Amino acid sequence: MRPIDILKDFYGYDQFRGNQEPIINAVMAGKDTIALMPTGAGKSVCYQVPAMLLPGLTLVVSPLIALMKDQVDALNAIGIPAAFLNSTQSSSEQRFISHEVTSGKIKLLYVAPERIFSGGNSVLDLLGNVTLSLVAVDEAHCVSQWGHDFRPEYLKIGELRQKFKDIPFLALTATADTLTRKDIADKLGLVSPTWFVSSFDRPNITYRVVLRNDAFQKLIDFLSHHPGDSGIIYCLSRKGVEDTAERLQDFGYQALPYHAGLERDVRQRNQEQFIKDETKIIVATIAFGMGIDKSNVRFVVHMNMPQNVESYYQETGRAGRDGLPSEVLLFYSFGDSITLGRMIENSENPDHIEVMKKKLDRMVSFCQTQRCRRRFLLDYFGETQKEDCGNCDICFQKGNKLDVTIFSQMLLSAVVRMKESFGLAYVILVLRGSQSVKVREAHKALGVYGVGKDKSEQFWKKLGNQLVLEGYLEATDKEYPTLSLTPLAWEKLKQKEKIMLSMDEGILATPTEQSHDKGLLEKLKNLRFSLARKFNVPPYIIFSDATLVEMATHYPTDLATLRQINGVGQVKAEKYGDEFRRVISQYLVENDITPPAPNRISGSQRRTSSSGKNVGSEKETLELFQKGLSVDQIAEKREMAPSTIEGHLFNLTEKKLIPQQEFLNNDQIAEIKAFYETQEGHFLRPLKDHFGDKYTYLQLKVAVRIS
Ligand code: ADP
Ligand code: ZN
Repeated sequence: MRPIDILKDFYGYDQFRGNQEPIINAVMAGKDTIALMPTGAGKSVCYQVPAMLLPGLTLVVSPLIALMKDQVDALNAIGIPAAFLNSTQSSSEQRFISHEVTSGKIKLLYVAPERIFSGGNSVLDLLGNVTLSLVAVDEAHCVSQWGHDFRPEYLKIGELRQKFKDIPFLALTATADTLTRKDIADKLGLVSPTWFVSSFDRPNITYRVVLRNDAFQKLIDFLSHHPGDSGIIYCLSRKGVEDTAERLQDFGYQALPYHAGLERDVRQRNQEQFIKDETKIIVATIAFGMGIDKSNVRFVVHMNMPQNVESYYQETGRAGRDGLPSEVLLFYSFGDSITLGRMIENSENPDHIEVMKKKLDRMVSFCQTQRCRRRFLLDYFGETQKEDCGNCDICFQKGNKLDVTIFSQMLLSAVVRMKESFGLAYVILVLRGSQSVKVREAHKALGVYGVGKDKSEQFWKKLGNQLVLEGYLEATDKEYPTLSLTPLAWEKLKQKEKIMLSMDEGILATPTEQSHDKGLLEKLKNLRFSLARKFNVPPYIIFSDATLVEMATHYPTDLATLRQINGVGQVKAEKYGDEFRRVISQYLVENDITPPAPNRISGSQRRTSSSGKNVGSEKETLELFQKGLSVDQIAEKREMAPSTIEGHLFNLTEKKLIPQQEFLNNDQIAEIKAFYETQEGHFLRPLKDHFGDKYTYLQLKVAVRIS
């Protein structure tokens, strides 16, 4: 068997990702190997596939005892014989497993590092009776004092290396800092290891940062875009956790708290409910997450700023491990940086204070940056990206910024004239020439008094907040915060430079295009949920979200088609295939949908987003369109959103079922294209801004996306 056969038959994936294949090849060639890959990139496959190909046992050293059971369950679910040994098991259980290992029934054995040398049934004794083929060291950064998670027991692995000189060791980690990386090879005693460093980019994650005023309302807005999705909301304090969870429950969300102050069993129960999809949202302190392997976390929210970029990246990295689009949102307030700064100053380790403060400064810069967030992050981890990502709030707002130089100058100079000792609300009163008794007589005499009365209070609030967010103004962290100018603002004023800000609500500026059948996905998730209950495993062990989304795109009703879906291996197809196929067939009948024929998925088709759509539904739209109904009329008749109908019409045009000329004549297409070519990005928004009501989004899209 070849590595790819294992991947296909057991995992149901049709190709390796990133560095998986070269890593596997290096291991199979017997070389010591170090693999650095971000969370979610698929590290496990790198040792699990060799484990199935090599003659003897693969030992997996991992510090995450809580995770072992999950990992082993997941392997057994796809037909790979694996087991774990740790302190949570009774001694008879441990004896049973040792016996299974020595009789050669187990291919992968997971152990905690402290188990290797210690105890009556130490792993070392066990290894005397089997052929060891490979040692995989997971979370390998734990061996280094420079890492953020040093564990002295890991140093013992070096001794293991000495004892088993002839077999390869594979060290894996998602940590990114260079000092730690170098240390790993030394401390594990690896012999001229081959290095594989993957990109740390997580392209499926959308990054957003917003100001923390009206945070809860913004959070509710955000959640309304994630109905039924699983997500983590991080708060700085236990009280923050309790309050947020409670308020969300009041709003009808299934949200449970998690922090170190809760009773152990409550905490465990809440975590379990989250993992099993029985509750959708967990509100937690950063104590939560280590050892969570849930692949379908669709969003991560930080109600407060984390201490450093490393933590932020690790915590946000828990979103979207299954590779599906996921969103992360950070609420930023200048006050947080002051609180965190104090926490650092009070820390016990004085050597660390300077380092930690520098890291905090970088975190603040990340929040305030006007550059692409992803480029900022990757830069931080030493990876340079040539282009903006197009998938973060900054990128979304690009081309969407307004020239607010004059108004900003008014606001900034008002702040200065009032000696930087008042808050935004008061500054606005002065700018708008308020007659309120609150406004001091001295301020009524200022030149700025009343200069801004043509603009609404909302406008000035928005502008003020945006000036804070983008680093022009600083707000103090007091009960009554006062505003002052940053060096950036002084610079801009001095140079008389333009100030461009995004003045629309930006949190959720981008509707995500969906290419799967939502109704069917819902049904498939329900089935998965009941199967998970039946077999007492987390739902994502049955199938990942990504797999269900593919099913809801391609409607596989026969076994051959089902096997072509990513994530459907032989064992799972046999075990669950019938039930999923039945639900799909029934859905097709009930909704009068003709599945894309022939019922086969070609390699290229699988990856295009518009294929295999709700074809029956599009057909209906086409018929109405051909009868001469407008988008709005069709939407009303079909009780669907106009944007959905526009989506249908676009797909139909792409499939040449509707000629492009139905929407635009050639001159119009040329006009739109000419402007499009002057744009840097590939966004429609700037086009819409440019042409205004002259063209609809659908027309713009048809002009530039269909050749
Ligand atoms: P990591 O340990 O690096 O965080 P995992 O090993 O848990 O990542 O893998 C993350 C997800 O990606 C899992 O759901 C896994 O099954 C999936 N995966 C791994 N390799 C592939 C592949 N070649 N094709 C598709 N999905 C994959
Ligand atoms: Zn970006």
